[in-house]
Amino acid sequence: MQGLMMDTPLTIPSIAEHVAKFHSDREIVSVTLDNPRHRYSWGEAITRSKRLANALEKLGLEKGDRLATIAWNDYRHLEIYYGVSGSGHICHTINPRLFPEQLIFVINHAEDRLIFVDPMFVPLLEKIAEKIGRVEGFVILTDMASMPETSLPNVYCYETLIEAESADYVWPELDERSASALCYTSGTTGDPKGVLYSHRSTILHAYASVGPDAIALSSMDAVLPVVPLFHVNAWGIPYSAGIVGAKLILPGPKMGDGEALYELLDSEDATLALGVPTVWLALLQYTEKAGKRLDKLQRTVVGGAAVPRSMIEAFRDKHGVELRQGWGMTEMSPLGTANCLKAGLEDLTPDEKLDLATKAGRGIFGCELRIVDDDGNELPWDGVAYGALQVRGPWICSDYYKLEGNAGSHSEDGWFDTGDVATIDPQGYMAITDRTKDVIKSGGEWISSIELENTAMGHPAVAEAAVIGVAHPKWTERPLLIVVLVENSEVSKEELLAFFKGKVADWWTPDDVAFVDELPHTATGKVKKIELRRQFAEFELSA
Ligand code: AMP
Repeated sequence: MQGLMMDTPLTIPSIAEHVAKFHSDREIVSVTLDNPRHRYSWGEAITRSKRLANALEKLGLEKGDRLATIAWNDYRHLEIYYGVSGSGHICHTINPRLFPEQLIFVINHAEDRLIFVDPMFVPLLEKIAEKIGRVEGFVILTDMASMPETSLPNVYCYETLIEAESADYVWPELDERSASALCYTSGTTGDPKGVLYSHRSTILHAYASVGPDAIALSSMDAVLPVVPLFHVNAWGIPYSAGIVGAKLILPGPKMGDGEALYELLDSEDATLALGVPTVWLALLQYTEKAGKRLDKLQRTVVGGAAVPRSMIEAFRDKHGVELRQGWGMTEMSPLGTANCLKAGLEDLTPDEKLDLATKAGRGIFGCELRIVDDDGNELPWDGVAYGALQVRGPWICSDYYKLEGNAGSHSEDGWFDTGDVATIDPQGYMAITDRTKDVIKSGGEWISSIELENTAMGHPAVAEAAVIGVAHPKWTERPLLIVVLVENSEVSKEELLAFFKGKVADWWTPDDVAFVDELPHTATGKVKKIELRRQFAEFELSA
């Protein structure tokens, strides 16, 4: 017997309608190149999205067409999210930090018909214009007064384009399973792979992520996503903030600058901010140096890479801010786990709570987790056994765009293989020990590079740390610690290695330390280990 409930589709226009009706006045603040503090409301954002939808129709674009963005986090980009996906097109967000060959690849692979581009990324496109000849037009995200000179063909000014249009637009009735957005993984090997989100997956992910044990977002929040709109839809914040009617603070090009970030958080009364650990490192270094405190911020959600214990401690003890770790991937929309205390664990000591907070967290409802050995057998949730982490759920990719099952990314029984290695403890807290490719294999045993990095980050002189395996005649591989020191601090190799004593198994202690001025990062701010392995390929361990 079928239930007798309405089958209204889960689509992005339903968020646009909801936020415009219930939270029309809620503010959206942006930093843009043409305005250091642009302010308007959710109501105006949705009205302008409708103007954009009318403009797209006039340009002859059809449902299902891919329209790309190369842009920072600001209000125009948000309008494109709603205007493009809401009218049945697919919003292909492109990471401007991709190498030119990767940019060319993703634009051609997606067959983008139009690209919305921030003025500062116009030169990037001019350089590759000849190789992306199929793109029919470029919309520059500014007004007529700030339009740059460009050699790009078929250029439109965004403000002029939408000004000419009516705000009368009825969102189409879309199939909830139709594609809404596209984001390519910025893998370090091989061509980027396209993850194609649907309206349904986007809504379900937004529902799940606002929950109190996930991102915990409400209309009372003022949320600042430092995570870019060009990578995994800024962890779904444009949608989840719309669902609850939170104030949005969009930092534009000022994403990696500790001082600018502090000023924005403070002056706009941000209660919640989300980002990768490197961003918070810059912020914490600034507050330390300038003697400032984050008085208004209540929570940060941090993920995308392992979160050092020292960072959780600094937020808690110096700023009174709760750092909640999250884990996920582009292929997972991205949220899979979130780390908050569960009932029964209230009496842990502050130190034990800190230990727990370094884990990636518990699966949120809708994302199933399992760890398996090399033969695909499920491993116990004892906090010790580690294996390949696999996931399943309605906001996890079932395949990559145009790869038709040839990516080798899924198990025979339909679970997605994350490429991460993890443990899961009896309480259900998952901890990432490594990327499969980064695990250090020493004498047949595995050493977790992440745990060593986190330990090193606990040393006050260490600003950033990475651990890679280097060849060893007896043990196959041994760990090499590569560190960037905090400005004006000194520490010897011996002192750093002694710091590991009692914190990890003796045989895990790195064999050597290399001091560098900076670590290479990927387009999404993660340490680029493949580059480090290349740099240190000939490194001879001294120990
Ligand atoms: P991306 O698809 O670029 O967002 O990268 C996803 C990958 O980032 C995951 O597969 C993990 O390897 C890594 N990652 C994300 N969150 C965490 C976390 N909390 N701890 C450790 N690694 C993480």
